[in-house]
Amino acid sequence: MSAERLRVFFALWPDAATAERLEALAGQVHAQCGGRRMRRDTLHMTLCFIGEIGLGSLAALEAAVATVKAPAFRIDIDRAGWWPHKHIVWAGCGAGARDVAALAETLRAAVSAQGFKIEKRPFQPHVTLLRKGRCPPVTDRIEAVSWPVREWVLVASERDHAGSRYRRLGCWPLGAVAK
Ligand code: ATP
Ligand code: MG
Repeated sequence: MSAERLRVFFALWPDAATAERLEALAGQVHAQCGGRRMRRDTLHMTLCFIGEIGLGSLAALEAAVATVKAPAFRIDIDRAGWWPHKHIVWAGCGAGARDVAALAETLRAAVSAQGFKIEKRPFQPHVTLLRKGRCPPVTDRIEAVSWPVREWVLVASERDHAGSRYRRLGCWPLGAVAK
């Protein structure tokens, strides 16, 4: 990709304590499925994948979401699964899934209203834990990871010799938790 272009996406990025617990979960499923663990600092949940944009469009993308308002929420990462076609072992959530989907839809609507083309595939909220996993994880002993979601981020995905690296470009807070 040329220096004038960026591959970007909106995501939830776990706080340090949550990332540590997600990494432990990755270790647990790694023992069963093999493959390559995602590094702690790369663990995330994509909300809205934008793809390649010109550097000149970054300000418009940020402006598109500047007025988005949504309450903070909590998600319980309490399940894991395997996509055999991609050999990805992932973690998903029960509680909080609707809040994640609502925020993803709000972002999607905001950016597409400004003319950004976005993925039409159905949203499948997940945290990739392992690449090249060989089999589905056994999930009956998963201890739920409670993830307090207080912000969402815009991230650039960049490739280097070690694979994809993620660079944070922007961060927007979520509001007070609705009672
Ligand atoms: P790599 O492609 O090097 O294996 P990666 O998939 O993490 O690593 P990207 O392809 O840049 O890096 O993707 C960044 C994030 O966006 C990841 O969470 C990925 O799952 C998600 N993503 C990538 N492509 C799409 C897409 N077409 N639709 C929805 N989400 C996507
Ligand atoms: Mg990819």
